[in-house]
Amino acid sequence: MDLEKTLLRKTGEAIARFKMIRDGDRVAVALSGGKDSLTLLEALLRLQHRAPVKFTVCAFTVEQGKFLAPFEPLGEYLKSRGIDWTYHRDNPSLRLLDEQPEHGCDVCSRFRRRAVYQIVRGLGANVIAFGHTADDFCESFLRNALFTGRTSALPAVTWSGKREFRLIRPLVFVTEEITRAFAESLGAPVIPCGCSQRSGTVRRSLRGWLEELEKDFPRLKESLLSAMGNVETERLLDPRFLDLEGGAAEASESEPLTVLR
Ligand code: SF4
Repeated sequence: MDLEKTLLRKTGEAIARFKMIRDGDRVAVALSGGKDSLTLLEALLRLQHRAPVKFTVCAFTVEQGKFLAPFEPLGEYLKSRGIDWTYHRDNPSLRLLDEQPEHGCDVCSRFRRRAVYQIVRGLGANVIAFGHTADDFCESFLRNALFTGRTSALPAVTWSGKREFRLIRPLVFVTEEITRAFAESLGAPVIPCGCSQRSGTVRRSLRGWLEELEKDFPRLKESLLSAMGNVETERLLDPRFLDLEGGAAEASESEPLTVLR
């Protein structure tokens, strides 16, 4: 498999299908220090030169006191690549860590979101790109269906409040097998974060379960991703999407009748 070709094809496909990037966009990549966001950054930088639309790319990192190793080696790598990168120590997050070391992910994410919007505003970007992968989408889809009773995954494209920023996830079709191999091929240092070490038991079980099933059904994730884009609402149980009064049947029956006449 030509790693770069596959990565760019799948990323390009997601960008085009969901209209993620448009002419004149300035895209800020949320760089967490892990393999996925690093792969995303490199993919966007490469696509920039061959995409039919013109856009610029920058990157930023929010320091919330959760990195498990110094960020400098990755900073040096980014600098050597001439990447427009901003490193932001978020003091409110660091204070939170001091004052409430046991705080939950919800508080941490809220602090991060506020910092992200503030940084991106300063960078003059209108699009924020996150490194969630096909694996994240599949896990989220299964977790919601199995544990929270919802048919839902992650938004490939969404907007921040007041539509100030478009939030995109261009790696939706890229598996972690690809990001892992691609990040390794870059030879860039990967900085682990508390997030990667603290995956809960549900997430671990789902990952293990998927890995096990994939041994027999290697196209499993592809199929799950297709399922997310191919919803037959009339065969599910949400009355909002069901034709309980038979109006749709009448409409569809009226067509053949017209043809018969
Ligand atoms: S796991 Fe991630 S979101 Fe949760 S507290 Fe740690 S850094 Fe924050």
